Amino acid sequence: MRSLNDISLISFVSPAHNEANSLSPFLSELIDSIEKLNLPCAYEIVVVDDGSMDDTPDILASWVESYPDVMRVVRLTRNFGFCAASTAALYYSKGDIVILMDADMQDDPAIFPSFLEKWIEGYDVVYAVRMKRQESTIVKALTWIFYRMLRLTSPISLPLDAGTYALMDRKVVNAIEKLPERNRYIPGLRSWSGYRQIGIPVQRRQRIHGRSRMGLRKLFDLAMMAFFTFSYTPLFFFRLLAICGLGIAFLLILACPAFLFLGHMNWQSVLMLLMVAFFSSVNLLGIVLLSEYVALVYDEVRNRPLYLVDRIIENQSLEHR
Ligand code: UDP
Ligand code: MG
Repeated sequence: MRSLNDISLISFVSPAHNEANSLSPFLSELIDSIEKLNLPCAYEIVVVDDGSMDDTPDILASWVESYPDVMRVVRLTRNFGFCAASTAALYYSKGDIVILMDADMQDDPAIFPSFLEKWIEGYDVVYAVRMKRQESTIVKALTWIFYRMLRLTSPISLPLDAGTYALMDRKVVNAIEKLPERNRYIPGLRSWSGYRQIGIPVQRRQRIHGRSRMGLRKLFDLAMMAFFTFSYTPLFFFRLLAICGLGIAFLLILACPAFLFLGHMNWQSVLMLLMVAFFSSVNLLGIVLLSEYVALVYDEVRNRPLYLVDRIIENQSLEHR
């Protein structure tokens, strides 16, 4: 059995983009919840300001002033997106245990004791499984399909309905950090890392302020990235489709002389045209699918940094790595 007495630091880390209205209630609740845990070790809070345009930087700076012994704020030079900001949040954490959560109060800190209990039992990753979602029906329906499609098509067993909210042991954070890839679907990388993992059902709360920063377009991009970085099934399906298409086209070619002989070419030519249209669109779809993978390869080869840090606001005693 592990013990919290054996570790020196726990990190609570969050990405935040334009969260001026949520940050203060979020941080108050977070600090309250941590204090209630009566931890035998120290803790730190790392918030990555993902290029916010509202008062987020000022609010975070005032929190660092009020809580200099625990707060570290990392400001990125622009909005690099949820995955990059979460990656930065993990990178700038120093704890032996790291808890990654959103800054909009959707992730309920009431689950912390269960997270820690499971870690003590020996689990290296404890992730929250979203029980009831508070999102709109369309987002709920799309995410339901997304998780199931991803699980069905990925060679790695990805847990259903598990987002980024999770506790990770330092060795898991280090393993994820070492991965060279730039397209980072964190729940996927977390599962990929192996180790001992377990999910805990949690009711996801509603956002306290504003609307999701992700939006349908960003969610769609994230879903596509998860899909194409964790599954080659689209290519497999395409191969199957291409083989069927070839078979049908071959049969049609064989049938052409018979159509001609019977003098019924007119509707058959229409049929042919339809088939040509069908197969060329299938062809196009194939190229699009392929280009998704090519774009990912291009992105990796370019090897630009995932994010740029503008400044780090912290007390001298919390010097960054
Ligand atoms: N976020 C971010 N950069 C972005 C979008 C979102 O750092 O470009 C943060 C956001 O402030 C929040 C977390 O990521 O703390 C999750 O975002 P959001 O609540 O908008 O997503 P949802 O919960 O709707 O999936
Ligand atoms: Mg949210």
